[in-house]
Amino acid sequence: MMENRVKKRLFLGLALGALLVTAVFISVFWYLTKTNAAFLNRLLVIAGWAAVVLGVCSLAGIALMVISLFYSRSLGVFRNFAFRMLDMVYPLALGLAKTLRLDRDLVRRSYVEVHNQATKFCLAGRRLKRPMILAPHCLQWSDCPYKITIDINNCRRCGRCPVDRLISLRDRFGAKLAIVTGGTLAREEIENYRPDAVLAIACERDLISGIQDVKPLSVIGVLNDRPNGPCHNTQVDFNEVEWALRQLVVKPGISPVVPVSFSESAD
Ligand code: SF4
Repeated sequence: MMENRVKKRLFLGLALGALLVTAVFISVFWYLTKTNAAFLNRLLVIAGWAAVVLGVCSLAGIALMVISLFYSRSLGVFRNFAFRMLDMVYPLALGLAKTLRLDRDLVRRSYVEVHNQATKFCLAGRRLKRPMILAPHCLQWSDCPYKITIDINNCRRCGRCPVDRLISLRDRFGAKLAIVTGGTLAREEIENYRPDAVLAIACERDLISGIQDVKPLSVIGVLNDRPNGPCHNTQVDFNEVEWALRQLVVKPGISPVVPVSFSESAD
């Protein structure tokens, strides 16, 4: 009880402090623009240049991404920069899609495709030692009594839900498999296992927030299918999962797939 009260005070105190700081900033800004027109002009120029620099960086990041996809090349030393710029532009693209009344899930899927392809090229030729498969709990059959989120080995392999096949893939590819109930647990699993790349299965929103959350860790995303509605007895395309795993894991007897070029895969 006491602990809760402290937490509330902390937030309320910080919120009031933030409001106070904002009010001081606005007052100073208002005073300076009222008494000094040159200051306002200078401020507008600085804001304009900041927007230009951000715009040029975003454009450069997207251009690097397009070149990487088109020529099937790794982003090399520009990897982090290009991915950051992609993430920066993503909410703008989503906002534009909303304005144009486009299906935002289509935009999200397209982002995942771009991100996946670029990640695959960056990982090409790398021998990963600790690949990980992260899958959502909603893949488990809803009436299954076994607690697989605590220990995946509690699964009895009855074949009623996709978890059975995921375990087979885990064993075949030598990857760590974790079934998680949300983003917090997913982060915890990643922190504990410290994988060198992750194959994540999730819906559009969770996948993108997860991908952005764990950067700079390489994540290849596979979207789940929701034939029974969201978060209930979901499915996943195993051809896609296996294909993605082949990108991550180079093992004797399991040949890596040659990356598909942008022109072949882009819609
Ligand atoms: S495969 Fe069977 S035992 Fe395993 S999680 Fe699915 S329903 Fe449960």
